[in-house]
Amino acid sequence: MSPRTAAAPEDAYTAEPFVPDHGGLTALRRAAADCRGCPLHRDATQTVFGAGAADARVMLVGEQPGDQEDRQGKPFVGPAGKLLDRALEEAGIDPGETYVTNAVKHFKFTQAEPRKRRIHKAPTLREMTACGPWLAAELALVEPELIVVLGATAGKALLGSSFRVTEVRGTVLEREIHGRPERLVPTVHPSSVLRSDDREAAYQGLVADLKVAARVLA
Ligand code: SF4
Repeated sequence: MSPRTAAAPEDAYTAEPFVPDHGGLTALRRAAADCRGCPLHRDATQTVFGAGAADARVMLVGEQPGDQEDRQGKPFVGPAGKLLDRALEEAGIDPGETYVTNAVKHFKFTQAEPRKRRIHKAPTLREMTACGPWLAAELALVEPELIVVLGATAGKALLGSSFRVTEVRGTVLEREIHGRPERLVPTVHPSSVLRSDDREAAYQGLVADLKVAARVLA
C-alpha cells in the first residue's frame, strides 16, 4: 500500500465505528480507550474519557485533556481543573455532582524534542467532528439539564464554527444538540484564567458565568 493510501483521509476521521450502542458509561469508557477514529491517539498516552456522576444535572464540556490529564487518564485534574472546582464551589455548584468531559478525548500537543515540555495544540475542526460521537453518546446517557460550555473549542464542537465565547458567555442558550433540545451556558475555559494578565478579574468573570448556570439549576 502506498503512503498516500495508508492513512484515512481527514474527512473520513470518525469515532463512530468505535462507539458501542449499549452498556452505559462504563462500556463507553472502555470502548473509547481503543478509539482510533483520528490520528490523535498516536502520540497521546491514553484516551481521557468523561468522569463524574452518571445522573449529573450539569455537564461541563472543555476542549481536550492537558498534560496532567493525559498522564493520569482523568479529565480536569491539572491546574485548570483545580481552578474550575474552586469557581464551581464559589458559584454554588458542587463539583462532586457534575459530569466533566472534553470535546476531544486525546491530548494534542507539540514537542520540540523528546523529554521537552509538551505544548498544548488546539484540535482542528475535523478532529473535533471525529470525536463528536463520544460526546453525543455521553449526552444521551447522562441527559444533563444544563451544559456548561468551557471555551471556544467546546463551543465550536457543540454549537458550530461561528461560535464566539465573548459574544455569548454568561447567557442561557437553547439549542438542539445531537438531536436533543439542550440548555447551555457558555463561559471561558479555566486555563484561559490561568494565562490571563489579570487573573483575579478573569476568575471573577468565570465565577459570574457559573452563577448563571447555578441559577438555571436552582
Ligand atoms: S481524539 Fe477522539 S476520535 Fe480521535 S482517536 Fe481520540 S477518542 Fe478517537
